[in-house]
Amino acid sequence: MWRKILKLRDVAKSFHMKAVGNGRHTSFWYDRWSSLGVLSDLLGERGTIDMGIMKAATVEDVIQSLQRKRRYRGTVLNDIAKELEIIKAQQLNEVEDVDMWRWSSGFKPKFSSRETRRLLREPVAQCSWERSVWFPQATPKFAFMTWIAMRDRLSTMDRVVSWCRGVDTTCVLCKLAPETRNHLFFECSFSSQIWDHLTRGLLQRSYTLDWEGIVVLVSDSRMAKKKLYYLRYSKRLCIHCGESVISAGMKNRGASTSLKEAVGISHPQ
Ligand SMILES: [Zn+2]
Repeated sequence: MWRKILKLRDVAKSFHMKAVGNGRHTSFWYDRWSSLGVLSDLLGERGTIDMGIMKAATVEDVIQSLQRKRRYRGTVLNDIAKELEIIKAQQLNEVEDVDMWRWSSGFKPKFSSRETRRLLREPVAQCSWERSVWFPQATPKFAFMTWIAMRDRLSTMDRVVSWCRGVDTTCVLCKLAPETRNHLFFECSFSSQIWDHLTRGLLQRSYTLDWEGIVVLVSDSRMAKKKLYYLRYSKRLCIHCGESVISAGMKNRGASTSLKEAVGISHPQ
């Protein structure tokens, strides 16, 4: 854990700099105070020898030791010297150094975890169904389960077989089709009865047992608010029932009859 965090030091560095006042709390080599960047990164180990400045020196130490205009061999070193002369000429002896944090609009003296997170996040494509899973009145447990189902990460048998060879992959309820997410929750002749009972009257001509079609329906923000809420809740109720079937089915693949009784569904006519 800590090693992983330490690997991000270079990223963290790019989010911080120092606005130099008297230079007392600014490391000459390791803080980013110069327009050229962090000087230890720029000049490496040789930098301390070439400039004759100790590793532990602060910017204040260096400014105070500037007695006269010194010329170095190398443009970069002379550029650093010029910056130091400018800071010295400002005579900011009573002004404290300020920590500055990166925002999208530039460095500011205030740190914002929200802004930092936003800058660190890689842009991702907008998820069309996000609001159908996470909405204000959602029950957290159902919402979480629905999210897992949306990602197709539940332990349906078509997925279980990839890590447990030889298992029976037929639907634990109807025994007529492979147990996939799309089949188990809505297409199966047993579980479809729950969806049918809850939504056929509501959806009428839009009624469907197709997973993708249902996702489109529950993501349709143009639908009347109450209808949409009822539909979303019906969907997650079906997923919750299906998830109970998966859990029980994992324990005992032969217990299909008691499972059907457990979720209160009968054999379709
Ligand atoms: Zn089935």
